[in-house]
Amino acid sequence: MRIVHALGRSLPLFAVASVLFSGASSALAVGPSAASDRAVLLMHVDFSDARGPSFSDGEFSRAARSLDRYLKSTSYGLAGVEATVTKLLRMPRPLSYYNPSGTPKGGLRGELMADALDMAEAAGYDIDAYDIHWLTPGQGTTGVAGKVWGNNPNSIGIIVHEVGHSLNIPHANSWRTNDGTTTGSGYSKEYGNRFDPMGAGKDRYQRHFNTATKYLLGWLGEGDITTVTKDGIYRIQAHDRPLSGMSAALRIPRNRKQNYWVEFRDALGDRRSANGALVMWENLSFQYLNPNQSDTHTNLLDMHPATADIRDAPLLPTDGWFDDDEAGIRIRVLGKVQTTPVSLDVEVQFTHPAGALDAPPSLSFVQPFGTASSIGGTTVFEAIAHDPDRGTANGDGIESVVFEVYGGGNEPPIAVLPPITEPPYRQEFDTSGLVDAGYTVLCRATSTANAGGNFSTDLTYVRVRCNGANRSPKIVCGLALASPITKASQFRAEIVVNDPNGLEDIAKVQGWIVSPTRARVGKFSLKHEGAGVYTLAHPHMNFSRPGTYTFIARVSDRRQLSRRDVATFIVK
Ligand SMILES: [Zn+2]
Repeated sequence: MRIVHALGRSLPLFAVASVLFSGASSALAVGPSAASDRAVLLMHVDFSDARGPSFSDGEFSRAARSLDRYLKSTSYGLAGVEATVTKLLRMPRPLSYYNPSGTPKGGLRGELMADALDMAEAAGYDIDAYDIHWLTPGQGTTGVAGKVWGNNPNSIGIIVHEVGHSLNIPHANSWRTNDGTTTGSGYSKEYGNRFDPMGAGKDRYQRHFNTATKYLLGWLGEGDITTVTKDGIYRIQAHDRPLSGMSAALRIPRNRKQNYWVEFRDALGDRRSANGALVMWENLSFQYLNPNQSDTHTNLLDMHPATADIRDAPLLPTDGWFDDDEAGIRIRVLGKVQTTPVSLDVEVQFTHPAGALDAPPSLSFVQPFGTASSIGGTTVFEAIAHDPDRGTANGDGIESVVFEVYGGGNEPPIAVLPPITEPPYRQEFDTSGLVDAGYTVLCRATSTANAGGNFSTDLTYVRVRCNGANRSPKIVCGLALASPITKASQFRAEIVVNDPNGLEDIAKVQGWIVSPTRARVGKFSLKHEGAGVYTLAHPHMNFSRPGTYTFIARVSDRRQLSRRDVATFIVK
């Protein structure tokens, strides 16, 4: 009986061979656009049973340039990507392991990503320095916060969609009713907004994100949109053309949970959208950054619900008034105006008594500022907030302002600072508990109840990078297996978990046993108990087949950083 202990970290270090490119010429990439480029690590992988590069450096470079061009033009120059392509990384296990049924799902997809990150790190890449980890070929295309699995760098429309997910953007839905009306009872149809890259269809690369999404991403600021709380005629420019100083969208508070967004598109080459307005509901929880929460979507309203086809969704001048009796809001399109760029005149009326609705507070960050700010040490958060119903001074009509700090993924906030009730809305925050990583600082303002008894909230956020004194946790995952191991044996493994930062933020300890035929014969999961020695044990493992088994241990922390260790053992 022999136990072979192979440390996962003992892989040879290769020289970094990266291709670095940035899509915009340096003459154009000035000011905030350069600062807010997302750093993308494009990990090019192959497998022992699927050897060799799937795509050329030229294809990767074209894909990254296309994505950069797309983001720069749709974000009005505020976003882009700076991509690093890794050398070809050989994955530690064969494709047949990750991909038994054609497309790896759930855990296997996660393992594929974790293994690729391990291999990239072993090859000398500083994986924590990147905002987006993009793995290709990914055997199935998908994306979650900060991560993209991409099949083919040439299918740029899909990449745009998945990169949208990696920026925390959920699918763009439509509202489908059961009663033949536009706003009646019904359901949110996933992918239903065919005018948005987060909706269905093959031409996603041609489409801009909707205006609610652009606002969420910070590409449209408070000054680029109009919050409508009074009857009037409002002009909006085509938001898929360069910004010109005209308003790019109307935001109309509908109730405590929803806003209307009214927008106009010109560049799709589509007759209806080029002559009418797209009208959407935005659930306010859309802005909570959590793509897995229910009701976080935008829903495109179908102004011609008699047909099942969503492509006739736009509200046209010939349609007259669209009436939302429940909310007391009516909207009609007066017509196109030949400004530069082309614009649309939209009339809005409120049929409920004045004061029944409360416009959400207007809110913006003073610091940190910009979508890729750096923070460190004792840092200051500051915002300006006012209630558009009560004038424009900072603090008018505001009951409280709260700052919250979020880490990656869908974890609860790391910190919720005490509410501030009077301007300046300014608070110090000590970053010494944070590691070097990306965070989101969220600010929420609540307005006081107005004459109608309503209140409303609004929130905004910035993504920051913390340059704290702490390094990312380098978790040591040492493994000891009990011996001897026989066919029907008690299995026992000890995993030593050590967080050099002493942050005690170990979230998960897991182990898998993989048989000589690469079947998974055991899985263990332990809740976090901080650093220490974890024992994974099973009284009667049935190792029916003699041969070399693999035990894989993984430790993850709350920021979803993980470390693995692998040991093999032989069953005789
Ligand atoms: Zn999707």
